[in-house]
Amino acid sequence: MNVIWIRSDLYEDIIGAVKTFLPYETGGILLGYVDVQENLVVTKIVDPGPEAVHRKDYFLPDGSFQQKEIDKVFQETEGEETYLGDWHSHPYKRPFLSDIDLDTLQRIATHKPSGTDEPVFLIVGTNPLKLKCWQYSATKHEPIGLEIRIWTDNL
Ligand SMILES: [Zn+2]
Repeated sequence: MNVIWIRSDLYEDIIGAVKTFLPYETGGILLGYVDVQENLVVTKIVDPGPEAVHRKDYFLPDGSFQQKEIDKVFQETEGEETYLGDWHSHPYKRPFLSDIDLDTLQRIATHKPSGTDEPVFLIVGTNPLKLKCWQYSATKHEPIGLEIRIWTDNL
């Protein structure tokens, strides 16, 4: 099982955002890189943006805001840190991929400008509070579970 490494402060940011927005959904974008062992390393989270729509069963990020943030990080890191995927919450539900999530994940995988054909979806359920992550496999054409690990910088 491949691993997705999430830096501890970013993990706390995700949990904090999920709780802040309850009972509504929220989410964001995961930026980072793929290491030599094909594991994913998350180094930055992009917020949903000022025009994002948060509902109980629905979340629509501010796409133009997020694209600007992605471009900024790409330039600042000279292309080392790029779009890995998306995360969003499922208030009062378990973390699972809904049919809509599955469609969205497939759409991102086949959408050239996304920059990846193997995007990641991280879902945070709050009943119980739990994170689950999947990566779309370009060869198997289906999402594969990733093991989530938390890492701490400079400690
Ligand atoms: Zn969902």
